[in-house]
Amino acid sequence: MAYNAPEGTADMLPAAARLWRSTVDSAAKLFGTYGYEPIYTPLFEITDVFTHGIGEATDVVGKEMFVVRSGENYKRALAEGDDSKLKSKQKLSLRPEGTAGVVRAVVQHNLVEQGAAPAKLFYAGPMFRAERPQKGRLRQFHQIGAECLGSTEPTADAEMIIMLMRFFEKMGVPMGKTRLLINSMGDDNCRPAYRESVRQFILDHEGEMCEECRRRADTNPLRAFDCKNEACAHVMENAPKITDHLCDDCREHYEQVKALLDAAGVKYIEDPTLVRGLDYYTRTVFEVQVVEGMGSQSAIGGGGRYDKLAEIEGGRPTPGLGFALGFERMVLALEAAGTLADSPKRVDGYIACVDPSVRATAFDLVCAARDAGLSVEMDHQGKSLKSQFKMADKLGVRVVIVLGPDELAQGKARVRNMSTHAERLVDIAAAKRLLAQFGGNLVGGGAAPVSIDALFDAEGAE
Ligand code: AMP
Repeated sequence: MAYNAPEGTADMLPAAARLWRSTVDSAAKLFGTYGYEPIYTPLFEITDVFTHGIGEATDVVGKEMFVVRSGENYKRALAEGDDSKLKSKQKLSLRPEGTAGVVRAVVQHNLVEQGAAPAKLFYAGPMFRAERPQKGRLRQFHQIGAECLGSTEPTADAEMIIMLMRFFEKMGVPMGKTRLLINSMGDDNCRPAYRESVRQFILDHEGEMCEECRRRADTNPLRAFDCKNEACAHVMENAPKITDHLCDDCREHYEQVKALLDAAGVKYIEDPTLVRGLDYYTRTVFEVQVVEGMGSQSAIGGGGRYDKLAEIEGGRPTPGLGFALGFERMVLALEAAGTLADSPKRVDGYIACVDPSVRATAFDLVCAARDAGLSVEMDHQGKSLKSQFKMADKLGVRVVIVLGPDELAQGKARVRNMSTHAERLVDIAAAKRLLAQFGGNLVGGGAAPVSIDALFDAEGAE
């Protein structure tokens, strides 16, 4: 029986994988100008990292986590009927998002030393959520995210938002169809009272709201703002708004973030109902949505400030903030807008053999070209010369080198420029000498990569 990839996952075939890699490269380049460095944390963590950080009552943790048990612990749990006897460090889960793991790593390795500059880190990789799969909503999806730890300043918030918007712009996300929503969720000073007022509001309207929202009143009342149920949404329109309940410090912080965005010319919409799904947010939260062609999954990225998270993960008080963008959602937005840039496979040249007697020389030349940093191919299937040219055409190479026994007897090969169709005989030894000058490029040699076109003039290099 042949198997398919599990529901809600997608193979990244070469074209998509190239796009993923070039997107991550672009992110690394842009984020680097803002001082961000890469970090890779494990794909799974001790479950507490997520339950404590993201919050047990959130959908992401409460309903959608992929729980992992290593072989032995799995067997033990099966034998005992449950896994309550497992130690906390034996209870693992696949990461549903990147922030909790990065903050855990920052705490573990003390990456934010007291008085030092903020730690600026970015990551890229798969996340796992056992959601109901649909267009734009997968069970394994890919995020690129950034985290900045060690600053409470509004400039850090504005910088984070600007960096995200610049990235989307650079990738071709249609800015005219994109909106940036922002809000402040307050802090320990003002949010508890606000939370209580929303809880009270839900209880006052219990009869009009769904069972889940009634439950949320006690567990996570602010999540009622995200309820998809129309009746709940209608009721929540009149719920108290956080912006009317912010303490002076939070209000001032929020005003400054907005002023900085204004000064940078970044347009935003204030949305006092934007609460985002995770418990760890404080003060600034933001979400980027594409308003056309995305169906119900319009959010392509989002984030916010999480000044308490480092403490929750067992560290010193360390303010922080970050964002994550959804790669698959961004690709959907680019497809809808017709701006998805192709990142084609690059093959510079093809070395064709007239008959099997020249294959060893061809192979030798292919190896020398690759050592010089060129991407070259040759036939591995014993195809006819005609088929080899077809293959070279299909690969879109600029140059084909044809090795035939007659030319080879004189130490020559025929080089054809595939766009101009110009041909000339080139001395193989000269070509190899030319390539040898560039040998080692692949292993970090300093010379600029040789151009395949130079081979065309290899005789001149003698
Ligand atoms: P979140 O961590 O929920 O704020 O998600 C950040 C971004 O990841 C969202 O804006 C989406 O673009 C993307 N995302 C979240 N969940 C999924 C999913 N199940 N499938 C695909 N993309 C997702």
